[in-house]
Amino acid sequence: MSTHHTPESSAHLSEPNCIFCKIVQGQIPSQKVFEDEDLLAFHDINPWAPIHFLIIPKTHIASMAQLNPSHEAMMGRIMVKAGELALQVGALPYPEGGFRVVVNTGRHGGQEVHHVHVHVLAGERPWQKI
Ligand code: AMP
Ligand code: ZN
Repeated sequence: MSTHHTPESSAHLSEPNCIFCKIVQGQIPSQKVFEDEDLLAFHDINPWAPIHFLIIPKTHIASMAQLNPSHEAMMGRIMVKAGELALQVGALPYPEGGFRVVVNTGRHGGQEVHHVHVHVLAGERPWQKI
């Protein structure tokens, strides 16, 4: 039995007032780290660490709280990409180097941009946050 899911058609592909949807559409510039059909990675404009980039799905999903089984493969790909891209932009290898993955969700989670994004942080410490 196949476990492949495609994102549900009820999901909006993009939201007109979403800053990350605008980045996906090229309406706001970004320093791209990686792009394919489904994902975009770009450097954070206000880095907390020497290396700080974000990985997002190109389709608009407000937060991790909206995820459902149709998103499992896409979120899994983001997790696999995180380490690969961290090395590509200069993170030192595990275990001496490594990286941190953060997903802020909702007000208590400290989320400011409501388009799901995975922060990837790396580089020599100390860092500005966490
Ligand atoms: P969060 O608090 O998890 O919602 O984080 C949102 C992140 O998006 C912050 O770290 C911001 O610095 C970053 N950010 C906001 N606008 C931009 C932009 N135009 N380009 C790159 N990063 C951005
Ligand atoms: Zn969006």
